[in-house]
Amino acid sequence: MFLENASRKGWIEVVCGSMFSGKTEELIRRLKRAQFAHQRVEIFKPRIDVRYSEEQVVSHDANAIRSTPVESPQNILLMTSDVDVVGIDEAQFFDDSIVEVCRQLADSGIRVIVAGLDMDYTGKPFGPMPALMATAEYVTKVHAICVRCGNLAHHSHRLTRDDKQVMLGAQDSYEPICRHCFRELRLAEEQSPERREPKKD
Ligand code: ZN
Repeated sequence: MFLENASRKGWIEVVCGSMFSGKTEELIRRLKRAQFAHQRVEIFKPRIDVRYSEEQVVSHDANAIRSTPVESPQNILLMTSDVDVVGIDEAQFFDDSIVEVCRQLADSGIRVIVAGLDMDYTGKPFGPMPALMATAEYVTKVHAICVRCGNLAHHSHRLTRDDKQVMLGAQDSYEPICRHCFRELRLAEEQSPERREPKKD
């Protein structure tokens, strides 16, 4: 369980993991506790993520909290002049400037809580997440349960034919799987190339 240590203000927390790992729920849990303590909280997400509601960070269990969609990380700086805590969801979809924006926020005394997918469906580090994890004071990696064997899962396996790194509005197209099941799927794919998904041009 993550516990805040607020002797000096301003730091960065990262909550990361695969799909269905509960990272947005953990972000919401931390933000709601801060709100309950009358801290001023603002929540942002990239405008690209419009799966559910324009105005809300929505986790899959519908435990929602109001958020502001922004085009670019710079917009966050313009909207956080008078806040104690900034939450950022789906951070993997922002460009690399989110790293500098988070640094500036934390340097100015704001508690920054960033949630995002740490890996894409191929198992590669996702966008700015590695740099955010490296520059944060606290990193919490949350896990899903492998749907194939019950181990801890940290891969988001894509079930559909699509090679794009970003595929939105498709929760049903992923399943959480563990390292070993991920490897088995990869090996099976390599051994029978005809099973590979056709590339799109
Ligand atoms: Zn497994």
